[in-house]
Amino acid sequence: MRRQVSSVSQVSSVSNGIHPAVEADLVPQKTLRSAVGCSGIGLHTGAKVALELHPAPVDRGVVFRRLDLEGPGAMIPAHVDQVRTSELCTEIANAAGVSIKTIEHLVAAFAGLGIDNVRVDLDGPEVPAMDGSAAPFVQLIERAGILEQAAPRRYIRVLRPIRIGDARRFAELAPAETFRIGFEIDFPNSPVGEQAIAFDLDYDIFKAELGPARTFGFTRDLEKLWSSGLAKGGSLANAVVVGDDGVLNEEGLRFADEFVRHKALDALGDLYLAGAPILGRFHGTQSGHAMHARLLQALFAEPSAWRVEVLPEAEAEAWPRRVAAL
Ligand SMILES: [Zn+2]
Repeated sequence: MRRQVSSVSQVSSVSNGIHPAVEADLVPQKTLRSAVGCSGIGLHTGAKVALELHPAPVDRGVVFRRLDLEGPGAMIPAHVDQVRTSELCTEIANAAGVSIKTIEHLVAAFAGLGIDNVRVDLDGPEVPAMDGSAAPFVQLIERAGILEQAAPRRYIRVLRPIRIGDARRFAELAPAETFRIGFEIDFPNSPVGEQAIAFDLDYDIFKAELGPARTFGFTRDLEKLWSSGLAKGGSLANAVVVGDDGVLNEEGLRFADEFVRHKALDALGDLYLAGAPILGRFHGTQSGHAMHARLLQALFAEPSAWRVEVLPEAEAEAWPRRVAAL
C-alpha cells in the first residue's frame, strides 16, 4: 500500500523526467535493519505506552499504527495533511478520527538519522516522552540498525521563499543547497532569555548536538496545565522545568542553549512531515508546531515554490558539518 497522502510521489512521477530506477550513485532510501521497542509515559496523557519500530518497504514513508485498535482506521501516515496541531505538541489523525499525540521528537530522530520508511506501532494514543529529547529514539534506531534500500531517496527542493507569521513570530523556507535550520527564541524576564542557533543538518550533528536537547516548560505554565488536566505525565524526568530563578532540574542543562536547540529539534520533526527531507533553509523566530504545519501547507499550495529531486551521494557527502551559535 502506498502512502495515503503523497504529494511527493504524485509529483515525482512527472518532475524533471527523473526515472525512479535505482542508480548506484544516488542517495538511497533507508529503513531499519530489525524491529526494536521500548516503553514509557505519554507527556500529555500520563498513560504508559509501548512503542515498536519496524522496517518498512520503499516509498512507504513513516506510518504510525495503533495496536489497541483494529482495521485500516488504526493506521496514520506521518504527513502534514494528517496534522492536528496544538501549540503543545504535534498530533496526527486519520479520517476515522483516530489520533496519536507528541510524534515530533520521534519523527525528528527519523529525520536526523535519515530514516525514510518505518512503521511505528503504539498500544496507546501518544508517543512515550522518554527523557523529553530525541536521544532515546536515536539509541533505539541505532540498536535496530539502518538498512539501505533499492530505491533513490526523494528530496523536496525549495525553489522560492515561503513565509508564515508576522514580524515578531514567523517561520520561513528559502532556497539553499543543504538543509539548514536557524532558530531564535526570546523569553524576556526568564532564565531562558534570548537564544539563537544555525546549523546544516547531518547524522553526527543531529546525534551529538540536537537529539539530546530536552523539551522545557515554565513552572507557572505547568501549574496551569496540570489544573486543566494537561501535561499529566510531565515531570523533571522528561522536561527541563524553568522557575523564576533558574532551572529546577538537579542535573542542570545538557547545553547552555538547550532551549533553542530543542526548538530546532521540534522544527526538524515538524518539517519531516513534508513526507521527504527538505533541501532548503528553514528559519523560525518564536515559531511552534502549528506554524510549522501551516508553513508546509503554504509551500505545497504553491507548485512553483518546490520540486522533487534525487541527489548524488557525492553531493550529499559534501555538505558542511558545523553547529554555530549566531
Ligand atoms: Zn519538543
